Amino acid sequence: MSRLIKESEGTGRLHIDSPLMGESLVSKALLARTEATEYFRMHPDVNVLKIGGQSIMDRGGQALFPILEELIRLKERHKILLMTGGGTRARHVYNIGVDLGMPTGVLSKLGDKVSWQNAEMLAVLLSKHGGVKIGHGDNLEQLTMFCQLGYLPITYGIPPYGFFEHPAEHGSIPPHRTDCGAFLLAENIGARSVIFLKDEKGLYDRDPKKVPQDQRAALRFFERVTAGELLALDLDDLIIERPILTFLQRAKCLKEIRIIDALNHPEYIARALEGENVGTLITKD
Ligand code: ADP
Ligand code: MG
Repeated sequence: MSRLIKESEGTGRLHIDSPLMGESLVSKALLARTEATEYFRMHPDVNVLKIGGQSIMDRGGQALFPILEELIRLKERHKILLMTGGGTRARHVYNIGVDLGMPTGVLSKLGDKVSWQNAEMLAVLLSKHGGVKIGHGDNLEQLTMFCQLGYLPITYGIPPYGFFEHPAEHGSIPPHRTDCGAFLLAENIGARSVIFLKDEKGLYDRDPKKVPQDQRAALRFFERVTAGELLALDLDDLIIERPILTFLQRAKCLKEIRIIDALNHPEYIARALEGENVGTLITKD
C-alpha cells in the first residue's frame, strides 16, 4: 500500500512512498511481486461471443438469421456480449495494402472499419430485440447493466492497435485482429467465457477446407488441447488467431476458450454456454 509522506524541505509538496517508486517496472523479480492472488472481475457473468466475419457474417442471412434467433432466445438466460469479426472485406483491403507495401500498423488501420460495419449490421438486425451497439469506451463498464436490463450489447472485435500494432512474426498482416480483440476484452473484464462462433467443428491439425472431402476423415480433431501443446505443435494454420495461444497461457482470468460450429449447428451456442463439450476447448494448462 502507498503512504503519503510530507516532503521535508518546506516546499509543501507531497510525495508518495510507493513500493514501485524508483523502479523501472522491467525487473522480472519486481513484476512477479505484482501478481494478485485473485484478480478482480468486472463482468463475471458476461459471456463474450465472437461472430466470425468470414466464417458467418459474409454468408449473409441464411447463415446469420438462425444464429440471431438463438441469441435472442438465449439472452433471456445468459448475459451475452456479441463481438464481430471482419471477414472478406478486411482481407480485400489488406490485400491492396500489402500490394502497396504498407506496414502492419497501416494495414491494421485500414482493416479496422470492417468489424465496425458488421457490428452495425448486427445492431440494426437486433435493434427491436434490444440489440445495442457500443464502442470501446465507457460503455464497457456497463455491460452487466445492459444485460440485466434485457439488452444485447454488440461491439466490434478489432482491438484499438492501429498504428501501434505489433510487428508481425511472419509477413505484414496485423497479428491482432478480431479473435484477439474478443479474447483480450473477455480477459480484462473478467468474463465468464469466450466462445468463437465459426463454420467448422473446431480445431483440426490442418485447415479442413484445404483437404479434399474424401480425405477429411484422416484429419486429427482436437476436442480438448492446451495452449502449450498447440504452441509446441506449431501447426501451420489455426482456426483462431495465433497470438491467443500466448495470451491464454498468460491469462489471469480466462482459463479456456471454446470454438464451435455455429454455422451448421446454431444450437451449439446454448450447449457451449451451458459448459457442454461441443467443438474444441483450448485450455490454459
Ligand atoms: P472468422 O471469420 O471466424 O475469423 P476465419 O475464416 O478467419 O474465421 O477462420 C476460420 C477458418 O479457419 C475455418 O473456416 C477454417 O477453414 C480455417 N482453419 C485454418 N486452420 C484450421 C485448423 N487447423 N482447424 C480448423 N480450421 C482451420
Ligand atoms: Mg479470422
